[in-house]
Amino acid sequence: MQMPEPDAGVIARKAEIVAGLRRLLPADAVIDNPAETRVYECDGLTAYRCPPLAAVLPRTTEEVAAVLRFCQGAGVPVVPRGSGTSLAGGAMPTADALILGLARMNAVLETDYENRFIRVQTGRTNLSVTGAVEADGFFYAPDPSSQLACAIAGNIGMNSGGAHCLKYGVTTNNLLGVTLVTMAGEVVTIGGPWSDAGGLDLLGVICGSEGQLGVVTEAWLRILPKPEGARPVLMGFGSSEDAGACVAAIIKSGILPVAIEFMDRPCIRATEDFCKAGYPDCEALLIVEVEGSPAEIDEQLVRIKDIAAAHEPVAIREAADEDEAKRIWLGRKSAFGAMGQMGDYMCLDGTIPVSELPRVLNRIGEMSRETGLMVANVFHAGDGNMHPLILFDANRPGDLERVEELGADILKLCVEVGGCLTGEHGVGIEKRDLMPVQFGPADLEAQMRVKDVFDPRWLMNPAKVFPLEASAGRRAG
Ligand SMILES: Cc1cc2nc3c(=O)[nH]c(=O)nc-3n(C[C@H](O)[C@H](O)[C@H](O)COP(=O)(O)OP(=O)(O)OC[C@H]3O[C@@H](n4cnc5c(N)ncnc54)[C@H](O)[C@@H]3O)c2cc1C
Repeated sequence: MQMPEPDAGVIARKAEIVAGLRRLLPADAVIDNPAETRVYECDGLTAYRCPPLAAVLPRTTEEVAAVLRFCQGAGVPVVPRGSGTSLAGGAMPTADALILGLARMNAVLETDYENRFIRVQTGRTNLSVTGAVEADGFFYAPDPSSQLACAIAGNIGMNSGGAHCLKYGVTTNNLLGVTLVTMAGEVVTIGGPWSDAGGLDLLGVICGSEGQLGVVTEAWLRILPKPEGARPVLMGFGSSEDAGACVAAIIKSGILPVAIEFMDRPCIRATEDFCKAGYPDCEALLIVEVEGSPAEIDEQLVRIKDIAAAHEPVAIREAADEDEAKRIWLGRKSAFGAMGQMGDYMCLDGTIPVSELPRVLNRIGEMSRETGLMVANVFHAGDGNMHPLILFDANRPGDLERVEELGADILKLCVEVGGCLTGEHGVGIEKRDLMPVQFGPADLEAQMRVKDVFDPRWLMNPAKVFPLEASAGRRAG
């Protein structure tokens, strides 16, 4: 993975820069000891690492603004960071960059059940947003599998999704407004507690902008009343193609389950070894969850099981009670951890039209055999959002490069069939140089001009999203 040369001038001024930051923030908010800054050297894409110049952990929007004004003046690049769970290297620093971590900004600022919103500081973890309102019968819908750890800051940065986004949409569909601090240290409010605002939809530009345009410090989030009930059904199939075809048929039928999750044999085997969820012996399985009143749930599940019957299922198990529902989800929720026990892996994130699932799964199987690299699949099938996991040995010379090559080919396949380079994990450094596969020079130029407006000196989150070659002139300036 190519990264630009860090600015030697900034590195040489480290002591002066740290002293400047210490004048702005309480003593415990600035970290410059190399042994301590190492914890920020990577995010969830652990194959690439680089310790930052220093890290700051502000507590207020005003402190964030002061830090950014200072860094803009001193020409120091800044990498905004929530919890560092990005799988695309979105929060990885360069050696001349300051990490600006939101972890201490985790307060609930306001809850309003009549108008169905919560306002939080964005360092708050995803799961604890629901935690703040569930006793009153509400929840926050986007549910990344990392929700125990990841922060709303990163969810907004990556426009994150999750298992239940088939029905409820991803972050952008549940975000009402933000407080954003620009690189110049200006504090702006975009959107607000209402469902739509006059003027340009800048909120749509900010959500998913991967820390390129400013630091989001507060957010208004839509909260929803909890549904009456929910029930999953587990269905095993003789091939990935059959499972994929079943997904396409369910979506085509007009039923809208709250989630359709897919796992193939390597993943099923790994999770069985890991947490013994009691999954059937099959090539691929689907977990389909529906919600509503007991009568609505029964009706939807009858129709879903009818559809599955046409795709030669080898097993169907509907949850009889809460305990069984938890067991059905256990393997899926543990899948990434289970795969991690098997060795190193790279988790891809591409999106395809749901109708292409059987063809793409078949082709990924062929590519895996051709390269000799094992690929396991676990993903949000209802949205066509695929997460092939390529297994490798990080200590074997050349393995990472082979994985990168296969990963790139799989993502190109997603674009070829009418899909997209990324579904929910973002571009980061991982897919940065593949952007021209999807976008022509004029498209990329238009996107870079938006960044020019917010961050004219290109100091925010360097070397992410835009191909290095396309952005070289701007970054140097
Ligand atoms: C086991 C596992 C499972 C996962 N499952 C899912 C899943 O189901 N769905 C999904 O979508 N993702 C998933 N992810 C990926 C990851 O959790 C998400 O991308 C998440 O939103 C990142 O949040 P974070 O707080 O850790 O952000 P970080 O990793 O810290 O940052 C992510 C990006 O947001 C930017 N950013 C961070 N804070 C701010 C801010 N305040 N203002 C502006 N930009 C900011 C960063 O610069 C970076 O570009 C998973 C990751 C893991 C490790």
